Amino acid sequence: MTVEILDTPIEYLKGVGPKRAEVLRKELGIGTFYDLLTYYPFRYVDRSRFYAISEINSDAAWVQIRGKVTSTQLVGKGVAMRYVVTVADGSGEIDLVYFQGIKWIKDKFSIGTELIIFGKPTLFNGRYNIPHPETETAAEFSAQPADPLHPLYNTTEKTKLIGLTGRTIAKLAKTLVMQVHGMIPETLTPEITGELRLISRDEALANIHFPSDNEILAKAEARIKFEELFFIQLRLLRFKLNRSRTVRGHRFSVVGEKFNTFYSTYLPFELTGAQKKVVREIRADMGSGKQMNRLLQGDVGSGKTVVALLSMLIALDNGFQACLMAPTEILANQHYKTISRLLDGTGITCDLLTGSTKQKQRKNMYSLLQSGELHILIGTHALIEDTVQFSNLGLVVIDEQHRFGVAQRAKLWSKSSDPPHILVMTATPIPRTLAMTLYGDLDFSVIDELPPGRKPIKTYHFYESGREKVYNFMLQQIHTGRQIYVVYPLIQESETIDMKNLEEGYQHIVDAFPPPKFKVSIVHGRMKSEEKDAEMQRFTRGETNILVATTVIEVGVDVPNASVMVIESAERFGLSQLHQLRGRVGRGADQSHCILMTGYNLGQDARTRVDTMVRTTDGFEIANVDLKLRGPGDLEGTRQSGVLDLKLADIIRDEGLLRYARNLVIKLLDEDPLLEMEKNRPLAEQLKYLGRKTSDWSLIS
Ligand code: ADP
Ligand code: MG
Repeated sequence: MTVEILDTPIEYLKGVGPKRAEVLRKELGIGTFYDLLTYYPFRYVDRSRFYAISEINSDAAWVQIRGKVTSTQLVGKGVAMRYVVTVADGSGEIDLVYFQGIKWIKDKFSIGTELIIFGKPTLFNGRYNIPHPETETAAEFSAQPADPLHPLYNTTEKTKLIGLTGRTIAKLAKTLVMQVHGMIPETLTPEITGELRLISRDEALANIHFPSDNEILAKAEARIKFEELFFIQLRLLRFKLNRSRTVRGHRFSVVGEKFNTFYSTYLPFELTGAQKKVVREIRADMGSGKQMNRLLQGDVGSGKTVVALLSMLIALDNGFQACLMAPTEILANQHYKTISRLLDGTGITCDLLTGSTKQKQRKNMYSLLQSGELHILIGTHALIEDTVQFSNLGLVVIDEQHRFGVAQRAKLWSKSSDPPHILVMTATPIPRTLAMTLYGDLDFSVIDELPPGRKPIKTYHFYESGREKVYNFMLQQIHTGRQIYVVYPLIQESETIDMKNLEEGYQHIVDAFPPPKFKVSIVHGRMKSEEKDAEMQRFTRGETNILVATTVIEVGVDVPNASVMVIESAERFGLSQLHQLRGRVGRGADQSHCILMTGYNLGQDARTRVDTMVRTTDGFEIANVDLKLRGPGDLEGTRQSGVLDLKLADIIRDEGLLRYARNLVIKLLDEDPLLEMEKNRPLAEQLKYLGRKTSDWSLIS
């Protein structure tokens, strides 16, 4: 019954009505009582304190003053017209200024009335004034004093236009809290609230809006944060548990001849300790009889490809096929080349399927796939087309998964009667806390070690004034036989300008490094894929010295002889992108260099990004900075993860709470996997309730 109250459409709240309801829904996402109740204040102002007018010396803080009206007047004309109410309190005078709603305001103030004024001063012409303050007469104020900690709510221009200011929201919240206080259902069990000494949900939701002091506010925040983190973890881990109980997986029990022969005869290097560890984890997982859903994290250059190949060989040894899916054609090509080279002589068959594969080839490939003669298929999205049918697909490896949508991954399941094992590889390190939330239902493997002999890449920052120096350095590197990338941003919205920058940049480079002595290639997204490929090939084979490119080379391209990465307009790239780009060099034994070129005016965030890149090559550290700069909402993949449902909790600041919640959920599901116990009923119900609200949450990893 109580849940239903919270589901009441917001228009039925006193003071709302259909028109405001519409705007609340559209602008602030508030459609129900529940939504308003969880529309938390962003800050609180202490209203137990009165300022003297003479004390006002900053336009940053909210102030409350008490003063008498000394004059009122209309000033200016037309759009500049404003209504000015001057008040004095013995220490000084200040103007209250109204630009809108003058019609209504005009008759409200009479000279001599004592007012309680609450607002945010601004400095204008060397004098403070308070635009559109909240006012009450002293009599009204003493009849009903203000909340000691006054909540501030975010609003938008559109809500303000119809009078839905932060103040109005506070009033509505007050009405709502008074109406539902005492009836808000508990969602946690006494066991949990007891252990953590959390206040009840009912208390928390009332006090988060109208706390009587800072202590109860802190308690309300703690309770709400915990609840947010707890239910995300419960949802993820329950889902994972459910999947492992209901979905059977192929049991890859043998590590047979193909794996062993390859390992002992064909593998061109010794695996790093981290690679060995990860292969063991994957092997154990695929041998368990359950379907593997594993995220393999490894920094750029850590050697994920060979781990993928070894995993695929285990599938083959057990009589299954495997496929590897890459986000771009260039990458798919490259994987194909690397893997077919490694498999050369083993008798294992491997082919490439992309958008540009010819029809005739395709037909042939399809029949070999269906007969099982083709063991490994590498490709792009083309792999998930309905026409591609395997004889028995046992393992799917997805490289750089953040480019694949959930729906695309789901399609892979339909490729075989039992779901294949899934190995998702990512070179974008994900901070542990984010991973627990974003990929909380996957198992993790981490390659936390680079192959031996790698020298950390040196990174420098230059402004335009340093270009000559940079060119000299490039020249010197070319003389020692090294190759160079020069990367330009190409961002959708400004594509035409970016294209022009790229072309001009290319011309510059060609002028500075003229043929026939030097050779420069160019690759960008607008080229035909054959052209692109040909240019890439020239660079890969070492026939060109410099590759001028857009971010099409961001992921996966592997040219060990390339030792310099010049990134133009580096301030326009995100941190993880910069890290990815830099990872294109440093793949051989030589010292590699990364040069960030930027404009002179760097914003604070851009400066942090550049400084971070110069300071460290540690992908996890970079990922942490990135998360702090952008917040999880901007990171890819967050939409389906529930991270965005976090209103109060912050997965960085509240890391301890997050870990606690996760461990608690693990213990809980250990005891009661299906949440069937009577004592856990509130949890099961809340999970169902939340599930209804986010019904599009996918069932696929
Ligand atoms: P990423 O993890 O970025 O996909 P790759 O799989 O492309 O990395 O590997 C990067 C480079 O390191 C490749 O040239 C690969 O041959 C090489 N490599 C991988 N593992 C080892 C190892 N254990 N020892 C030496 N070189 C390795
Ligand atoms: Mg790779």
